[in-house]
Amino acid sequence: MANIIIAPGKYIQGKGEINNLGSYVSNLGSKSLILISPSGLKRVGENVENSFKETNTKIVFESFNGECSRNEINRLIEILKQNNCDNIIGIGGGKILDTAKAVAYYTGHPVSIVPTIASTDAPCSALSVVYTDEGAFEEYVFLPQNPNLVLIDTELVAKAPARLLVSGMGDALATYFEAKACFASNSTTCAGGTSTLAALGIAKLCYETLLSDGLKAKLAVENKVCTKAVENIIEANTLLSGIGFESGGLAAAHAIHNGFTVLDSCHHLYHGEKVAFGTITQLVLENAPLSEIEEVILFCKNVGLPINLEDMGITNVKPEELMSVAEAACAEGETIHNMPFTVTADMVYSAILTADALGKSYK
Ligand SMILES: [Zn+2]
Repeated sequence: MANIIIAPGKYIQGKGEINNLGSYVSNLGSKSLILISPSGLKRVGENVENSFKETNTKIVFESFNGECSRNEINRLIEILKQNNCDNIIGIGGGKILDTAKAVAYYTGHPVSIVPTIASTDAPCSALSVVYTDEGAFEEYVFLPQNPNLVLIDTELVAKAPARLLVSGMGDALATYFEAKACFASNSTTCAGGTSTLAALGIAKLCYETLLSDGLKAKLAVENKVCTKAVENIIEANTLLSGIGFESGGLAAAHAIHNGFTVLDSCHHLYHGEKVAFGTITQLVLENAPLSEIEEVILFCKNVGLPINLEDMGITNVKPEELMSVAEAACAEGETIHNMPFTVTADMVYSAILTADALGKSYK
């Protein structure tokens, strides 16, 4: 098995960069289909339009229907063809970006990704998550290529609700610990090979950036301002965690997250919030040094990520419910089996309860 690392073709991050979108996209095609929500169009439509004025690239705006589903992807493929567009741009949150990636893949055109929030590490990846029209998970579409371009305007992201940035930190928190586990077990990553020193190093930098700038960034964003710490956290959540998870590998933390999705009581949580508690549980599962677990718990407590089951919305702990979480986390094909030792549902159950007790002791 070869070591493989993949990444977007170009990553651009800075204040006001949305105003330069046109000049960056102009060498990717002559007519862009821009997928955006009606509220996004109101906020940045004019900036985007102006950014294309000095270029030879024409643009067509199209409203997103709200779900990254087969029907929506097919509808947009038709619109792209009818308008003779030769590239697509997604501006907004995760579902818009995933839809744009999928449309680009099925039509064989370049794609530019413009996230307006930093709540997960999905923007840079060669992956789309497809749902039914009703919003139930349907399938992962692994794409042959990462986005050609990812552009983040940090001023826009800093104005989004702080909980979204914090949730992105929760997603990014898992990256180093999962990459470390995959490195130890020599597991295959989403990049289609085993890890590289580069991916492991990026994952480590991701964790170090969270520890040094996470709290400062959260406080800045709560005040709707963009500081150097906010910029660093946006990069950690999006680029470092993006490459880190995709080419470093996923392990127990994300599998335990997937386990918690079976409980209705956790449905109000964002992806990264569940992943954060999954990370604490993974550390207990691998019997990490107490100092390491403590560092992670204190980070979560400071920025406002869940550190026990009550924070996860589970007030009345039922053993059979937790066992169903543990069993789902250990389902065949789950990334928990990338851990460097055999993991059973019993072990996950014990780790969840211990992580809960540890978290409570820091309350
Ligand atoms: Zn994630």
